[in-house]
Amino acid sequence: MPTPAYDIVDHCYDVLVVGAGGSGLRATLGVLEGGFSTACITKLFPTRSHTVAAQGGISASLGNMGEDHWSWHMYDTVKGSDWLGDQDAIEYMVRAAVDSIVELEHYGMPFSRTEDGNIYQRPFGGMTTNFGKGPAAERTCAAADRTGHAMLHTLYQQCLKGNAAFFIEYFVLDLLMDDDGRCCGVLAWNLADGTIHRFRARATILATGGYGRIYFSCTSAHSCTGDGGGMALRAGLPLQDPEFVQFHPTGIYGAGCLITEGARGEGGYLTNSEGERFMERYAPSAKDLASRDVVSRAMTLEIREGRGIVAQSKVQGKSKGKSKGKSSGKEVEKGDHILLHLEHLSPAILHERLPGISDTARIFADVDVTRQPIPVLPTCHYNMGGVPSLHSTEVVNPSGKQGGNDSDRVVEGLLAIGEAGCVSVHGANRLGSNSLLDLVVFGRAAAETCVRLLRGDGGTSARGGQVAAPQPSQSCEQRVLARFDSYRQASGEHRTASLRDSLQHIMQEDCSVFRTKEVLASGLQRIDELWQQLPEISVSDRSLVWNSDLMESLEFENLLLCASATIACAHRREESRGAHAREDFPKRDDEKWMQHSLVWIDSAENNAISTGKYRTRFAMRPVHSKPLTAKPIPPQERVY
Ligand SMILES: Cc1cc2nc3c(=O)[nH]c(=O)nc-3n(C[C@H](O)[C@H](O)[C@H](O)COP(=O)(O)OP(=O)(O)OC[C@H]3O[C@@H](n4cnc5c(N)ncnc54)[C@H](O)[C@@H]3O)c2cc1C
Repeated sequence: MPTPAYDIVDHCYDVLVVGAGGSGLRATLGVLEGGFSTACITKLFPTRSHTVAAQGGISASLGNMGEDHWSWHMYDTVKGSDWLGDQDAIEYMVRAAVDSIVELEHYGMPFSRTEDGNIYQRPFGGMTTNFGKGPAAERTCAAADRTGHAMLHTLYQQCLKGNAAFFIEYFVLDLLMDDDGRCCGVLAWNLADGTIHRFRARATILATGGYGRIYFSCTSAHSCTGDGGGMALRAGLPLQDPEFVQFHPTGIYGAGCLITEGARGEGGYLTNSEGERFMERYAPSAKDLASRDVVSRAMTLEIREGRGIVAQSKVQGKSKGKSKGKSSGKEVEKGDHILLHLEHLSPAILHERLPGISDTARIFADVDVTRQPIPVLPTCHYNMGGVPSLHSTEVVNPSGKQGGNDSDRVVEGLLAIGEAGCVSVHGANRLGSNSLLDLVVFGRAAAETCVRLLRGDGGTSARGGQVAAPQPSQSCEQRVLARFDSYRQASGEHRTASLRDSLQHIMQEDCSVFRTKEVLASGLQRIDELWQQLPEISVSDRSLVWNSDLMESLEFENLLLCASATIACAHRREESRGAHAREDFPKRDDEKWMQHSLVWIDSAENNAISTGKYRTRFAMRPVHSKPLTAKPIPPQERVY
């Protein structure tokens, strides 16, 4: 196929950061502070990144509200991960936590305060004291219920102060690799004027966020389409542990918007149709503050066993589409959600600590939280899996061969952080408030790794100077442009929106809170059928300027890749661990499965848009169960 003709604008930097969420901005700031030139490329205006929506807070064992210690935080995180988290990375994160919060405070982040002026901390699910033996830890630092908003704006302002080079509303199409498998930069499309840009750099940091939008009901923004995962897979790199998808217990019924776990941290609780506080049965000590997978499964079981709440006509208008029961007309309505109570809390606390969710509940559920409970349902919230990396954030790509001891083989020039990455500190289940921490700790680690590599490498320290960045292979660049052009010229019969809708329903129906072999197999087959429809995708707008039809089609392919990886690994993992609950394999199986899943999807070689073909390959990667300095935390049964 001849290469389509596009004029390309060239750029050269020491470091590229793809993404301007919490992780991308923290990395950008770190590289700037290290004295190297960096470009931060983002499809959204930085402060619109999904990090802005984070409500509840960021964890750190500051001990402002009671005794705390990093080793307790470490224990909770390893247990929360159901022993799939890498203990070296977890130790690195929890030990860096306190400094990271102090640093954010010095950058100007407006934390909520205690009476005596310290940073306010609230309890969060799975966070305990004294290695799980003591009461709940008050460990989650908050700026009311708008912590992500405060953090993102603070980091953005610091980047502006440092004169960071931003390329805003540039959509990164793909990674540029050389023939030796090194990453040399990216190719991006400027949405505003339609030009194509080649960015070359010694190091590229992927910070593109998660892919919650593979589900119909999710708390994440429309922009969370797993573009980084798609780019990695197309470049022949694997995703790790994609089957571990966190369902947040309290998405607003129908709308999916989040009600923070901080609501339960402040004393909120759940009830079923009998008015029972059922969490007391499932998690006698932690109750409503058990970890998220535990609460989500308990809610799903209550609904299944007929103790769900029946939808009220008031909320029906807003609950787009699907009522789960097949009931029509006069049949008895089936309860399909749970209630979250905050009305017993004092209006002053609600006003001071949870103002954002009071608004959200009013707008999306028509509920006044001072008087009525909020209808809620488990909703897709976070992707534990992503592009695998070491705790230095360097991406790894093992050969995947049996007996090969190259499980930590580094891909030169590529790093991954934030929700796009899989360090892995969250393992099979992330604890609430550990993600914002992950963003700043590993955002800084990525910058430090780049600075270290560049210094050792003789990189220029002159800001904005030209460095001898590596050259991508011509065939790689041609492939990227050909794929872009194929979507631009696509004239099939399937509209992108309808393909995306099918994908989201397949994932919601066949790869949800509870999973079985049959249901997952049916989902896999339905996903195959979607791939076959890909060559028949229709893009009606051919222009290059603000072509949202084209952008959504490119995002759709990324969603399809991430969803295929998720369901294929869920089908393969025959055990229950953390957020992955197999009804046909209800037990955790440490002997066989205490390992990371790796999946490669070959779609690029075949140019999936023209053939509809893809090929999947799997391998396992050992968990790092040895911490950096602490004693390893051996596997135990995970009860709360
Ligand atoms: C509603 C909600 C509430 C949450 N609350 C909390 C909480 O209280 N505490 C907590 O710890 N965690 C919370 N989380 C999780 C946490 O907020 C996210 O995991 C985290 O913010 C992700 O940050 P990020 O830097 O990885 O990516 P994001 O903030 O998602 O940013 C992604 C960036 O990548 C860019 N990008 C993506 N694709 C491309 C492309 N193709 N080209 C160019 N740029 C691209 C985007 O423009 C954006 O700047 C919450 C999540 C949600 C959805």
